[in-house]
This record gives sequence, C-alpha cells and structure tokens, in this order.
Amino acid sequence: MRLGVLDGHAVVVSGDWAANVQWASQGRLPSDPMALLDDWSRTRDWAAGLPGEAYDIPVDPIALSAPVPRPRQVFAVALNYPPHAAEAGFAPPEEPLVFTKFPACVTGPHTSVALPEGKVDWEVELVAVIGRETSRVGEDRAWEAVAALTVGQDLSERVTQLRGKPAQFSLGKSFPGFGPIGPVLVTPDELDDPDDLEIAALLNGETVQHDRTKSMIFPVPELIARLSAVLPLFPGDLVFTGTPAGVGNRMNPPRYLTDGDELISRIEGIGEIRQYFTAACP
Ligand code: ZN
Repeated sequence: MRLGVLDGHAVVVSGDWAANVQWASQGRLPSDPMALLDDWSRTRDWAAGLPGEAYDIPVDPIALSAPVPRPRQVFAVALNYPPHAAEAGFAPPEEPLVFTKFPACVTGPHTSVALPEGKVDWEVELVAVIGRETSRVGEDRAWEAVAALTVGQDLSERVTQLRGKPAQFSLGKSFPGFGPIGPVLVTPDELDDPDDLEIAALLNGETVQHDRTKSMIFPVPELIARLSAVLPLFPGDLVFTGTPAGVGNRMNPPRYLTDGDELISRIEGIGEIRQYFTAACP
C-alpha cells in the first residue's frame, strides 16, 4: 500500500491515481493519517480490497503534504554508512549515534525552504515509520513494527549543529522546513527487498549522493531493536536512518545550499521529494 496526504486528506495511491480513504470507506476509516497509523493493519486490509474504480482522483505531486504530519518522536542516526563516517573523519561507530529532529521541522515532500543564517547542508535518508507501539522488540521481528518507509531529508545547519563542546546536533537539524518527508508511505511488502534500496540526492541536477541502503552499518531492524530496548516507539514515530557519503561540508572546497538551489532526494521503489531554497528574509 502507498498512502499519502492530498489536499489535507489521507489517500491510497496507485500509479497516478488516488482513492480518498474516508470517502471510499464510506466514513468507516478516518481522514487523518495519524489515526490510520494507530490502526495500521485495518487500514492495510481495507486498502487491499479496494476496487480499481475507487482510484478516481488524479495525483498532483505538488499537492501532496507530509504523510506523517504529527510524529510524537523523530529519531535520527549519525554516521550510519561507512563512506560517510570516513568522509567525516570517524571510524564506523560501534553503537548507533542517535539524536532528534524536533517534530516541528517535519514538512511535506515539495517545499520551499528559507535558508537560515549559517551553512545549510543536505542529507538524503531512508525514513522508517513505526506502525505499532513497540517495546524491546528483537531484530528478527523488528520489521513487523515498521508501518512503511518513506524518503526524508535531514537538512542540517552545520554551524549550529557543531557549536559547543561536545557538539549537540538536534537544534541545527530542526530549523523550519528541515525535515521534509514523502512523497508517500510505502509498506515494506511493496518493495522487492526493503533492506536494499538505491538512494540518491541530486543538487541542481547533479548527483551528489548515491549508495544502497544495504550499506548501512545498523540496518533498519537493528535500529528499531536498539531504540525500542530503551524507550517505547509509537505509531507514526519517524526514524531517519542516516545518510550516505557526499554531503556538502565534506566536499573540497565545502559546498552549502544557496538561494535558488533545487534538491531532489530519491529512493528506489518509494519516489522522490523536492526542495527549493531561498535566501532568508533579512
Ligand atoms: Zn542525517
């Protein structure tokens, strides 16, 4: 199942067409994607039985908004791809390095981002969306806790991120618009191998990041197991799983986002999100 939010309503998407969940279920299912995530297996079972003619709304990608608009918790993982750890000057970590993006930064897939003062960088990431309340789940059953996968950008203002000793990441990664996700939620069964997806970022058409998610040091099930060993995970929680090599601040010379840039973040089998950057208002 592919689930998005179109003009404020949850929709099931098939190709270029969508079915409005509330209308097509004759009111039995809600329009709020957070409520659908609270009862995800019911949503999936219902969508599996939808007839083709229910998909009667053309999907305008620009009209899609965040498929998870109000996550309770947003986890993010640093240095989870060996080449990115190396370019950042670190040995591969032995434990996942976890920080948060504060949930207010979460936005939809097609946005315009006003650049704050500083050095704003890109990080394309696979995002796992939790589909049930989960505590202390084992790695072998952790995929069952995942409702869906989606594409995310862990936009990062590096001056704020690295300020202080020791540095603390979360504020520099939480400016307005710094957590775009989408275009839709894709259930793992839609993908040939959810552990091995091509992932890329393109800046003004040039590929700046490119890898496969199987390169992760801590794959999705291990991240879910380790996080849920510490605290409960809730439906709609987001896990940004780390970025491949090719971020701007490790380029020589470093490169940061500027007024007029267009960034496309793409993952095989899920889709792409697109951000435009504008100079901050003085
Ligand atoms: Zn990141």
